[in-house]
Amino acid sequence: MEWKTFDWKNQKVGQKGEVLTKVVYKCGFCKGTGFISSKGNTKCFVCSGAGTVQVPSPAVICAYCNGEGRSYLNRDLTCIICKGKGVVNVNSKDIEICQTCKGRGREKGVDLPCLICKGKGIIPKM
Ligand SMILES: [Zn+2]
Ligand SMILES: [Zn+2]
Ligand SMILES: [Zn+2]
Repeated sequence: MEWKTFDWKNQKVGQKGEVLTKVVYKCGFCKGTGFISSKGNTKCFVCSGAGTVQVPSPAVICAYCNGEGRSYLNRDLTCIICKGKGVVNVNSKDIEICQTCKGRGREKGVDLPCLICKGKGIIPKM
Protein backbone atom coordinates (compact mmCIF):
# COMPACT_ATOMS: atom_id res chain seq x y z
CA MET A 1 0.00 0.00 0.00
CA GLU A 2 1.34 3.39 -0.87
CA TRP A 3 -0.72 5.41 1.53
CA LYS A 4 1.30 8.58 1.39
CA THR A 5 0.02 11.63 3.14
CA PHE A 6 -0.78 14.22 0.59
CA ASP A 7 1.13 17.37 1.33
CA TRP A 8 -0.16 20.41 -0.48
CA LYS A 9 2.43 23.12 -0.08
CA ASN A 10 2.92 21.72 3.41
CA GLN A 11 -0.74 22.16 4.14
CA LYS A 12 -2.15 18.79 4.72
CA VAL A 13 -5.41 18.47 2.90
CA GLY A 14 -5.90 14.89 3.84
CA GLN A 15 -4.84 11.45 2.88
CA LYS A 16 -5.70 9.64 -0.24
CA GLY A 17 -8.79 7.62 0.44
CA GLU A 18 -9.83 9.89 3.26
CA VAL A 19 -13.27 11.45 3.12
CA LEU A 20 -13.10 15.24 2.95
CA THR A 21 -16.10 17.24 4.03
CA LYS A 22 -15.14 20.75 3.07
CA VAL A 23 -16.71 22.37 0.05
CA VAL A 24 -14.04 24.89 -0.89
CA TYR A 25 -10.60 23.56 -1.74
CA LYS A 26 -7.39 24.96 -3.04
CA CYS A 27 -7.35 24.60 -6.78
CA GLY A 28 -5.14 21.61 -7.57
CA PHE A 29 -4.14 22.76 -11.02
CA CYS A 30 -2.61 26.09 -9.96
CA LYS A 31 -2.01 25.06 -6.35
CA GLY A 32 -4.13 27.93 -5.14
CA THR A 33 -2.15 30.69 -6.84
CA GLY A 34 -4.83 31.44 -9.42
CA PHE A 35 -2.20 31.49 -12.14
CA ILE A 36 -0.62 28.84 -14.24
CA SER A 37 3.01 29.39 -13.40
CA SER A 38 4.50 27.68 -16.42
CA LYS A 39 2.65 30.13 -18.67
CA GLY A 40 3.53 33.41 -17.07
CA ASN A 41 0.56 35.26 -15.72
CA THR A 42 -2.11 33.27 -17.45
CA LYS A 43 -5.12 32.91 -15.23
CA CYS A 44 -5.87 29.40 -14.19
CA PHE A 45 -8.78 28.19 -16.27
CA VAL A 46 -9.87 25.67 -13.66
CA CYS A 47 -10.63 28.20 -10.91
CA SER A 48 -10.83 31.31 -13.14
CA GLY A 49 -7.97 32.82 -11.17
CA ALA A 50 -9.71 32.50 -7.81
CA GLY A 51 -7.28 29.93 -6.47
CA THR A 52 -10.07 27.93 -4.95
CA VAL A 53 -12.58 25.48 -6.30
CA GLN A 54 -15.82 24.09 -4.96
CA VAL A 55 -16.49 20.40 -4.77
CA PRO A 56 -19.69 19.06 -3.24
CA SER A 57 -19.15 17.13 -0.02
CA PRO A 58 -18.21 14.36 0.55
CA ALA A 59 -15.13 14.28 -1.59
CA VAL A 60 -11.72 12.63 -1.85
CA ILE A 61 -8.38 13.66 -3.21
CA CYS A 62 -8.23 12.56 -6.80
CA ALA A 63 -6.16 9.39 -6.86
CA TYR A 64 -5.55 9.52 -10.58
CA CYS A 65 -3.59 12.79 -10.49
CA ASN A 66 -2.67 12.61 -6.81
CA GLY A 67 -4.46 15.88 -6.21
CA GLU A 68 -2.37 17.85 -8.68
CA GLY A 69 -5.20 18.32 -11.12
CA ARG A 70 -2.91 17.62 -14.03
CA SER A 71 -3.16 15.04 -16.71
CA TYR A 72 -0.77 12.18 -16.19
CA LEU A 73 0.35 12.27 -19.81
CA ASN A 74 0.41 16.00 -20.46
CA ARG A 75 0.85 18.21 -17.43
CA ASP A 76 -0.46 21.27 -19.27
CA LEU A 77 -3.84 19.57 -19.46
CA THR A 78 -6.31 19.04 -16.67
CA CYS A 79 -6.89 15.68 -15.11
CA ILE A 80 -9.84 13.98 -16.75
CA ILE A 81 -11.13 12.65 -13.44
CA CYS A 82 -11.25 15.80 -11.31
CA LYS A 83 -11.23 18.32 -14.17
CA GLY A 84 -8.20 19.98 -12.63
CA LYS A 85 -9.62 20.52 -9.18
CA GLY A 86 -7.55 17.85 -7.50
CA VAL A 87 -10.56 16.77 -5.48
CA VAL A 88 -13.49 14.70 -6.63
CA ASN A 89 -16.96 14.30 -5.24
CA VAL A 90 -18.00 10.85 -4.06
CA ASN A 91 -21.49 9.54 -3.59
CA SER A 92 -21.05 8.13 -0.14
CA LYS A 93 -19.01 8.77 3.00
CA ASP A 94 -18.85 5.05 3.43
CA ILE A 95 -16.00 4.24 1.10
CA GLU A 96 -13.18 1.78 0.88
CA ILE A 97 -9.99 1.50 -1.12
CA CYS A 98 -10.48 0.15 -4.59
CA GLN A 99 -8.86 -3.26 -4.54
CA THR A 100 -8.53 -3.38 -8.31
CA CYS A 101 -6.05 -0.50 -8.48
CA LYS A 102 -5.06 -0.54 -4.81
CA GLY A 103 -6.18 3.06 -4.50
CA ARG A 104 -3.94 4.35 -7.25
CA GLY A 105 -6.83 5.26 -9.49
CA ARG A 106 -5.16 3.85 -12.56
CA GLU A 107 -4.89 0.44 -14.04
CA LYS A 108 -1.72 -1.48 -13.54
CA GLY A 109 0.81 -1.03 -16.31
CA VAL A 110 -1.28 1.50 -18.22
CA ASP A 111 -2.10 5.12 -17.65
CA LEU A 112 -5.83 4.76 -18.08
CA PRO A 113 -8.14 5.45 -15.16
CA CYS A 114 -9.24 2.39 -13.25
CA LEU A 115 -12.58 1.25 -14.60
CA ILE A 116 -13.86 0.11 -11.24
CA CYS A 117 -13.35 3.30 -9.23
CA LYS A 118 -13.27 5.66 -12.24
CA GLY A 119 -9.90 7.01 -11.15
CA LYS A 120 -10.97 8.00 -7.67
CA GLY A 121 -9.12 5.22 -5.93
CA ILE A 122 -12.06 4.46 -3.71
CA ILE A 123 -15.40 2.72 -4.12
CA PRO A 124 -18.58 2.89 -2.06
CA LYS A 125 -18.75 0.17 0.55
CA MET A 126 -21.20 -2.53 -0.32
ZN1 LIG B 1 -6.63 27.21 -10.31
ZN1 LIG C 1 -7.43 14.38 -10.80
ZN1 LIG D 1 -9.69 1.46 -8.86
